Amino acid sequence: MTALLIKNPAQIVSPRPGSLRGPELKDLHVSSGNCIYITDGVIQTIAPFKELESRAQVDNAAVIDASGKAVVPGFVDCHTHLIFGGDRTDDFALRTAGASYEEIATNGGGIARTVTATRAASKAELKDLAHMRLNRALRQGTTTMEVKTGYGLNPETEMKMLEVIKELNDEHPVDLIPTFLGAHSVPSSMEKTDYIAQIKAMLPEAARIAKFCDVFCEQGYFNSAESFVILEAARKAGMLPRLHANQFHSVGCIEAAVDIEAVSVDHLEVLKLDEISRLADTDIACVMLPGVSLFLDIAFAPAREIINDGCIPVLASDFNPGSNMSLSLQLVMSLACMRMGVSVPEALACITQNAAYALRLDNVGCIETGWQADLVILDCADYREMAYFYGENHAYAVIKKGALV
Ligand SMILES: [Zn+2]
Repeated sequence: MTALLIKNPAQIVSPRPGSLRGPELKDLHVSSGNCIYITDGVIQTIAPFKELESRAQVDNAAVIDASGKAVVPGFVDCHTHLIFGGDRTDDFALRTAGASYEEIATNGGGIARTVTATRAASKAELKDLAHMRLNRALRQGTTTMEVKTGYGLNPETEMKMLEVIKELNDEHPVDLIPTFLGAHSVPSSMEKTDYIAQIKAMLPEAARIAKFCDVFCEQGYFNSAESFVILEAARKAGMLPRLHANQFHSVGCIEAAVDIEAVSVDHLEVLKLDEISRLADTDIACVMLPGVSLFLDIAFAPAREIINDGCIPVLASDFNPGSNMSLSLQLVMSLACMRMGVSVPEALACITQNAAYALRLDNVGCIETGWQADLVILDCADYREMAYFYGENHAYAVIKKGALV
């Protein structure tokens, strides 16, 4: 048996279990004067030191002195594009020097550059790149991450990406949840109807590894009817449906998501009020991605309306080379607080418990007896400082399944 005692933290802060809506989001459990006792990766007891001291000695437990530090659940990033080949630094430099999207694309940049590089990269190269990125995420407190395919756009490369996710999950402490996103874009060499047929043919193979199937439902990509058809077939193949929806246009994706009983709708920058009411009547998680709004200088999702109407709000990074090159959920939290009208406790719930719900995980996202011991020990005594003192990494130590990582 392995045992770990987190001794005398200034605060232990946790959302309540469940899919949190409205006032439940800010109803965090904040305690001081308690320690966390962990055995074999599971939280056993939350109690004062004097009640745990002798047991910790008997068990020969490791001890982390957390005095003056707050402890929060490990962060769950439920929307990333972690795996890709190549580098888009040149695109970014051109854009910041004033080049238009078209000029960048003409220059060989944009998503086409990433697809070409991802197809050309070996599995080992993709894994090395992703491994380095994942280390960065872990250092910043992310202990669970969803990862999408979508830069292959052909059967070989999409499967190569899924295999990289699977192997990386076995090798790295961060738990990775694979999502098949063959419907990210239509490859330039194919007609859309042919490509959709190809995606459908790939679904049984993808479902061997992927838990979710995602579609980029957007004007110029996949419309709501096409998204529905793909996701219906994906569900039959054994994957749970989710959608990129309402990033630039409202084109019926929310209706499709409700019809298909999607697990989540992600982006939502241009969500309309009637669509928010529609989502509030469902169990669909509403995943907002403020890093993209910052990076592309577009509108932020209407978080306040989403929360006030009773939807299940979630925050994630959408880490990807084209529209948000940041893995920091601490920055996401700060952006949500500063630019979207989300309070600090709500924001914490959105990157922990509700994000775990969006991935259909039921043992992470809270600090509760019996739950997996995924924790972040912050370098501050008050967890709210993490959002306030922004642009900094406040993770002092990260615990994954009861081990310091
Ligand atoms: Zn995305």
